[in-house]
Amino acid sequence: MGTPLDTRTAQAEEVLERLYEEYPDTTISLNYSNRLELLIAVMLSAQCTDERVNKVTADLFAKYDTAEDYAAAEQDELAEDINSITYFNNKAKYIRSACADIIEKHDGEVPDTMSELTDLAGVGRKTANVVLQHGHDIVEGIVVDTHVQRLSRRLGLTEEEYPEKIEEDLMPVVPETDWQQFTHLFISHGRAVCDARNPDCDACVLEDRCPSSKLDHDVDLASGDEW
Ligand code: SF4
Repeated sequence: MGTPLDTRTAQAEEVLERLYEEYPDTTISLNYSNRLELLIAVMLSAQCTDERVNKVTADLFAKYDTAEDYAAAEQDELAEDINSITYFNNKAKYIRSACADIIEKHDGEVPDTMSELTDLAGVGRKTANVVLQHGHDIVEGIVVDTHVQRLSRRLGLTEEEYPEKIEEDLMPVVPETDWQQFTHLFISHGRAVCDARNPDCDACVLEDRCPSSKLDHDVDLASGDEW
């Protein structure tokens, strides 16, 4: 059918309820054992799969322990250590610079405010939100990655195009208590069923509420293009 509910709030509530049923245990899929490792893993994950990041950090976290270790690393050596990751040169630079700031301005501890985190090199609002949520138990917003971006648009929850605008648009319609899980549920559904190129609408638990369902609609609202 593919008919969304009348309001975005009702649509968000219905979508969440069904996805909670479908993915009851979903959570962050990056591996880390402390806040610094979390920050580094999230920085590495930009434009890269969590699976690849986990492979790289298995060795990286054994070699480097503290912010001092990263800040003192040679650029070439750190870049080499992460060279199977997208944009490894830039990411190595950002990590060294962010860790130098963490030592100089934050006594070696990963800061716990949005503004202090986004002041670190290579840390945008999305990375900061993940670190706040999973490192400090502070939920200030909704993490909008590529899956959240695509599915929110497909499901008629937003017409905004860019992550920060989407986040602003979603915050009033998604209950605050669900902000953290919203991201993980959408990532799980994006990976399992509603992928970018060929979503499996036949198998989707949201099909009857999705205004992009291929069974009933011609246009993918994520891109605005015809299926
Ligand atoms: S899989 Fe199809 S029906 Fe389900 S959310 Fe994605 S586009 Fe909509």
